[in-house]
Amino acid sequence: MDYTAWFQKLLTEMKLDGRYRTFAELERIAGAFPTARWHRPDGETQQVTVWCSNDYLGMGQHPDVLAAMHRSIDLSGAGTGGTRNISGTNRQHVALETELADLHGKEGALIFTSGWISNLAALGTLGRVLPDCVIFSDAQNHNSMIEGIRRSGAEKHIFRHNDPAHLDELMSAVDPDRPKIVAFESVYSMDGDIAPIAAICDVADKHGAITYLDEVHAVGLYGPRGGGIAERDGLADRITIIEGTLAKAFGVMGGYISGPAVLIDVIRSMADSFIFTTSLCPHLAAGALTAIQHVKMHPDERKRLAHNVACLKSMLINAGLPVLDTPSHILPIIVGDAHLCRHISERLLADHAIYVQPINYPTVARGQERLRITPSPFHTEAHMRSLVSAISAVGDDLGWSAIEQSRAKARHAC
Ligand code: PLP
Repeated sequence: MDYTAWFQKLLTEMKLDGRYRTFAELERIAGAFPTARWHRPDGETQQVTVWCSNDYLGMGQHPDVLAAMHRSIDLSGAGTGGTRNISGTNRQHVALETELADLHGKEGALIFTSGWISNLAALGTLGRVLPDCVIFSDAQNHNSMIEGIRRSGAEKHIFRHNDPAHLDELMSAVDPDRPKIVAFESVYSMDGDIAPIAAICDVADKHGAITYLDEVHAVGLYGPRGGGIAERDGLADRITIIEGTLAKAFGVMGGYISGPAVLIDVIRSMADSFIFTTSLCPHLAAGALTAIQHVKMHPDERKRLAHNVACLKSMLINAGLPVLDTPSHILPIIVGDAHLCRHISERLLADHAIYVQPINYPTVARGQERLRITPSPFHTEAHMRSLVSAISAVGDDLGWSAIEQSRAKARHAC
């Protein structure tokens, strides 16, 4: 086989239908978030404003977090040199797991090298070890949950997005004695909508199911201590397992689950993507621990974020820009065409020093391509004004009619 020709063909196909991914090369500048240095393709550098980071609270640059990480490197070195089982369990890991269990009011927690791996490990293991298990999965669940469910080998049923009645219908058709898991998210990362957690728990309870909630885009941001939407709505005790990331609002890297001790113990002992991999670097654990402790004690930053989100949303709406009116901190502008979305993003970066990555297939469905804007507590009103006027200018230049047409196509596809 001519392997090179085959790979070239794949790349050409992706370029033609707008799926080919190009990365903006950025250099984050500690203390200056959301400003970053962009290394342009022509070799020059330019300061840009980042509007699409998941470092939602800027904890990735918080002085306390950085100090904890520096201290940890000085004390413990860089890596752990082992799996959790073979010399790789450091004190920082244990302290972090205790802190996470407390954050969610659960008996235990377990950390992984990413949120993606957390979902793979937890759902993959639970679906496998529960005999004849059936998993009910929201139609919009993240790829990591889908992969975990697939790997578990369990029977899977997909319920319509955020639709407890459909979940009930599907669950009612399954033998009441079979073990069941209902897997869903709180804040959906691309549409910024929020699950009806209480109603989904009611259905799960009625059918005797375990509830599994991905709060990756909510931890740190909602609830009195940043425990997520379940904490905000007083529902954490109705969720069996809460899964989260250390890489977004906590600004570092890694993922975790929290839940009943016995269940955490089973996943710790049986999940291959936990067992057969080197544990998280101690300084990552130390940084995340400090970030969580900080976030727990500082609701003011969540309030500032919420204020900025409301402020930017109303500025976008007042400017006549097509932003989705979401109940969360995620503000998507649906473009509906992969090439156009990339083109708008490139123009924003090159002409206005504004970085918003285009979100294309497979992250969202074809026809749902979008700019996903994520304000932080550090974006100022001046940043917001620049963003709104830049999007308006690029839209005027490209012709809003082209954008409106592709959005109409996207709405039609919904
Ligand atoms: N779950 C959801 C809903 C996500 O959006 C993501 C990543 O964006 C993950 C899990 C994976 O988290 P991480 O980036 O820590 O791997």
